[in-house]
Amino acid sequence: PSPIHVVGGGLAGSEAAWQIARRGIPVILHEMRGKRMTDAHKTDHLSELVCSNSFRSDDAENNAVGVLHAEMRLASSLIMASADAHQVPAGGALAVDRDGFSAAVTAAIESHPLITVVREELTGLPPEEWDNAIIATGPLTAPSLAESIRAATGAESLSFFDAIAPIVHRDSINMDIAWYQSRYDKVGPGGTGKDYINCPMDKTQYEAFVQALIAGDKTLFKEWEHVPYFDGCLPIEIMAERGPETLRHGPMKPMGLTNAHNPTVKPYAVVQLRQDNALGTLYNMVGFQTKLKYGAQTEILRMIPGLEQAEFARLGGLHRNTYINSPVLLDGSLQLKSRPGLRFAGQITGCEGYVESASIGLLAGRFAAAQRLGEEIVPPPQTTAFGALLAHITGGHIVSDEERGKRSFQPMNINFGLFPEPEPGSVQIERVPGKRVRGKEKTVAKKQAMARRALADCAAWLNRTAD
Ligand code: FAD
Repeated sequence: PSPIHVVGGGLAGSEAAWQIARRGIPVILHEMRGKRMTDAHKTDHLSELVCSNSFRSDDAENNAVGVLHAEMRLASSLIMASADAHQVPAGGALAVDRDGFSAAVTAAIESHPLITVVREELTGLPPEEWDNAIIATGPLTAPSLAESIRAATGAESLSFFDAIAPIVHRDSINMDIAWYQSRYDKVGPGGTGKDYINCPMDKTQYEAFVQALIAGDKTLFKEWEHVPYFDGCLPIEIMAERGPETLRHGPMKPMGLTNAHNPTVKPYAVVQLRQDNALGTLYNMVGFQTKLKYGAQTEILRMIPGLEQAEFARLGGLHRNTYINSPVLLDGSLQLKSRPGLRFAGQITGCEGYVESASIGLLAGRFAAAQRLGEEIVPPPQTTAFGALLAHITGGHIVSDEERGKRSFQPMNINFGLFPEPEPGSVQIERVPGKRVRGKEKTVAKKQAMARRALADCAAWLNRTAD
């Protein structure tokens, strides 16, 4: 078969190249480092880890990223094999010796007889003669390629920063305090007038909250990030610093809302959460993008009435990050709808994290290889971690095209909120006679059921796809 081109030799590109070569197809991997650096990388190794050396939890029974590790191992991932071989002690997490890890990936790729590594920057979209190619150039995609992607997909389709509001697991919100209501009970398309979850604050609670935001520990931008503070996207702590009333006239305004638990007392301020996935398991905090450090963020956000026990699927942030509007632009096999044969992979598709980026590289590599071999492309089921992440990226959770165009798409780590609910019979709770089952135990049992199902379905999927 003729070669498949992979652009970018990071976590996603290296994994994609490996998966393609495993199918006996030649790969040309184009990596600019060696000729041109990014602002965060320091070496010319493939799959360099730009910051932490951790792949996060390795617990495949209770943790979504642990499930993703296990699925990648089942799918013969080079990134996981290299990580396992260069593990350093880190409790339940999988952490690696960063130099040993990236040296191992580089050696495996460079010595593979079917893979050719070319050290060059791609300055525009791949030429038309590359009928099968993958762009995996990451959050720091070189500017001229980013410009070409933007020109080809439309100005609205490429983001250079992520301004992320925290996302909360719906079942950790206390609905004895919070209530469902849209502002002025407005019924939008597909809405019910009860589309938001509202958390009320009185004056004392609001003032303490504003003080905590001002005092909270914040992350500083790196000099090269050049993050602009555009209006409509200001971090909440910056709004708090601008004056005690700013938040109450911004994202926390109480207008058009009546506390269902206490209708006669007007809330002084309200935090609204909007449904974030079609499954209804995740809610994002509207207008709550923040640069607070993760520890401070959790502590301060749990001051909000109704969120005292909140579990966060992801915390807020504001970073330099190049990514495309994948739910609109890509099909279910990560292919650019407007240019079949060209796929995207890794963080540029709007996943977040080393493991997630590598796993989307793994899928893109497999899909591209199947296409080259004239095989049917079989995507992983949504019940697997692979499938749940893929559905987040390609909009598989989204029901209508109208919704697809309207939703703001934000990068996300893998988490159980992206998985469909487990079948009720599959949730196994150990009952101790005379003891009530607590909500927390139910949540743990539910996650375990989703993890078991994911691994079984992943093994079945891999069987189907000849692995
Ligand atoms: P990368 O690993 O960045 O790989 C992209 C590759 O493409 C690079 O090697 C680059 O040199 C190359 N390239 C770019 N443009 C071109 C071009 N035009 N032509 C040829 N080659 C090109 N995730 C975590 O899980 N933990 C962390 O601690 C973490 N810290 C991060 C810190 C920073 C500063 C950033 C920016 C991101 C961080 N991430 C972190 C997020 C993300 O998971 C990593 O960036 C991850 O490396 C993404 O994998 P990738 O393969 O998509 O991109």
